[in-house]
Amino acid sequence: MGLFTMLCSMLACKAQAEGYKSLGVDEFAKTIEDSKVVRLDVRTAEEYAEGHIAMAMNIDVKQDDFEKKAKLALDKTKTIAVYCRSGNRSKKACQILTSNGYQVIELSSGIMGWTNAGKEVTKEEVDVFTTANGATVYMHCIKHGSLSIMVSTPSSDGQSRTVDKWIYVDPVTDKVQPITDYSSMPKADYILVTHEHADHLDAKAIEQLTKEGTMLIVNPRSSELLGGKGDVMKNGESKTIATWTVEAVPAYNTSTDKQQFHPKGRDNGYILSIEGLRIYIAGDTEPTPEMQYIKDIDIALMPCNLPFTMTPEQLKEAASIVRPKVLFPYHYGKTDMQQVVNLMDGSGIDVRIRQYQ
Ligand code: ZN
Ligand code: ZN
Repeated sequence: MGLFTMLCSMLACKAQAEGYKSLGVDEFAKTIEDSKVVRLDVRTAEEYAEGHIAMAMNIDVKQDDFEKKAKLALDKTKTIAVYCRSGNRSKKACQILTSNGYQVIELSSGIMGWTNAGKEVTKEEVDVFTTANGATVYMHCIKHGSLSIMVSTPSSDGQSRTVDKWIYVDPVTDKVQPITDYSSMPKADYILVTHEHADHLDAKAIEQLTKEGTMLIVNPRSSELLGGKGDVMKNGESKTIATWTVEAVPAYNTSTDKQQFHPKGRDNGYILSIEGLRIYIAGDTEPTPEMQYIKDIDIALMPCNLPFTMTPEQLKEAASIVRPKVLFPYHYGKTDMQQVVNLMDGSGIDVRIRQYQ
């Protein structure tokens, strides 16, 4: 046995003794293809933004709240695949996770080894959640009011590994910068449109995403503008899609000087219940009296830009009514997100800032 091999196997032994497995690039790449594996980048948010393994979520192991955040975000029935820059920080994360009862693997060479081996990285921001029955939900921030949600469910037929469904919310090509080419993205199983404004409703994006069987869910006005297309949902209606439900909830301006932007009764917010995971997409709204009836929300997306939607204070008000576990401020334009983070400090809500300008 050469010295290098011996050293490597000693390190592997150390990892094994700590209760996690250290894998080389190829083995790591193969392992993370499984939907039962959650990819976790433990570097800083800045490092993550420069490029990360596709679909990886980011929790910085150097932050004091790593353990708390990890326990909130990670499911114990999954294997957690950890990596950092070069393989140092990942070991620390592995120790914390294994001591909390997680099954963990790490990429021994870090993302440096990954890129050196010619593997790809992406800049796309993704947050990963798991449902009670083991489906993995990937939330992709696209921009402004646009996002996609991919639900990966272990297949029951045993033929394929997972069944993946793609949901897009308010897809917009060129009315909001940067230009998004939806034709290069997976086709949609479901498209949800909240309302008619050009930063939410875009016939071109809908066309690019549509395949046979795509269900388009729209508010009444958007359907009219699309020449009668889509499954219309009004405020208060709900619909079953696959094994999930979608509810249309009111989204409107309540301030007297803003009601012309989003008059009451016209536009939708949506609540998606995916195998028990409840996602509230607020649409263009201010805090409304109806929000008090929105309960048990795991993830909320709430707008924060003037003059059309909420101020940071109003966002705080809306969040304190709905009380989601995780809050993504979205549709925020030029609003200072640090102000939002400061305002929400101590709220007990996990506030995550993504590129939703
Ligand atoms: Zn609007
Ligand atoms: Zn808008």
